[in-house]
Amino acid sequence: MIDLYTFAESLKSENCEILIDSPMSRQTSFKVGGNADVIAFPKTVDSLVNVLKTASENNIPFTVMGNGSNMLVKDCGIRGIVVKTTGMNPEIEVDGDTIRCSAGTSLSKLCTVALENSLTGLEFAYGIPGTVGGAVFMNAGAYGGEIKDVLTSVQHISPDFIIENVNATELNLAYRKSFYSENPGHIIATAEFRLQNGDKNEIKAKMDDLIGRRKDKQPLEYPSAGSTFKRPEGYFAGALIEQCGLKGYRIGGAEVSEKHAGFIINRYSGTAADIIDLIEYVRKTVKENTGITLEPEVKIIP
Ligand SMILES: Cc1cc2nc3c(=O)[nH]c(=O)nc-3n(C[C@H](O)[C@H](O)[C@H](O)COP(=O)(O)OP(=O)(O)OC[C@H]3O[C@@H](n4cnc5c(N)ncnc54)[C@H](O)[C@@H]3O)c2cc1C
Repeated sequence: MIDLYTFAESLKSENCEILIDSPMSRQTSFKVGGNADVIAFPKTVDSLVNVLKTASENNIPFTVMGNGSNMLVKDCGIRGIVVKTTGMNPEIEVDGDTIRCSAGTSLSKLCTVALENSLTGLEFAYGIPGTVGGAVFMNAGAYGGEIKDVLTSVQHISPDFIIENVNATELNLAYRKSFYSENPGHIIATAEFRLQNGDKNEIKAKMDDLIGRRKDKQPLEYPSAGSTFKRPEGYFAGALIEQCGLKGYRIGGAEVSEKHAGFIINRYSGTAADIIDLIEYVRKTVKENTGITLEPEVKIIP
């Protein structure tokens, strides 16, 4: 057995950057979260496998994340090792209408490469500030499109640390969930997408239109994790919250956005506890007033 810090030191020679006792507020879009004992940034799939396997063999708990744009890390921080995929191989392989990339690739970069190759189908994802791994895990979607429409296969690391290829049809992709969100322990390493040939100007116009709509409707100037709640069937979370008079409601530094009630924002340098308390207050108020239960879309960690 080796201890966490000896393990962390050993990773420096393993294609992996390391931060020790570092705030998760710097790694998440909500800009909250206490310190993680160790944060590792593997650069390759092999290095990712090695970090996970060695941590497991030494009983060191690990948490895998992408860009932290759908995570709310508590003020107590995270014990063990956080493995952040954003340092992974940035190369994106284009083969006709097929695109392959690592889990750590940003969706925006992926969309830009699709545009450069006149490939259509991914425009909906432009502006979602996550990685490919996080987007597959969440089956991210927007403006009528979702990952499910374009994903063909995934290479993942099994709980036994074996690399396996899985067809997208086996991943139970549905509204904001997937095989991965239902089976923690499988880690997405790479993904493959199939798109269609399109007109570059039309693809660019659609991407520009969707970014414009985001800027108009969403409080992008403040830290958040996007929509705080899932869409309850037949309703919109933001409309229900607004109907309950909660727009602008604050707890500590957290606020229900005035611009879009579906977003809780970290407006005044709040804590994770402020945001969690506000999530609970909103859920309770909406339930009492409308009978509808809101389920958080954001993942609260640990
Ligand atoms: C301003 C804003 C706008 C947003 N708009 C949208 C939107 O329109 N549509 C939408 O769907 N979402 C939206 N989001 C939410 C978020 O960007 C997406 O859910 C995104 O897919 C999360 O990706 P990530 O890399 O940041 O994942 P993270 O937040 O890092 O992780 C999310 C979950 O995925 C898991 N995970 C991440 N990578 C892996 C991996 N490689 N293997 C296994 N598990 C993994 C993590 O453990 C965690 O449970 C928005 C967020 C913000 C801040």
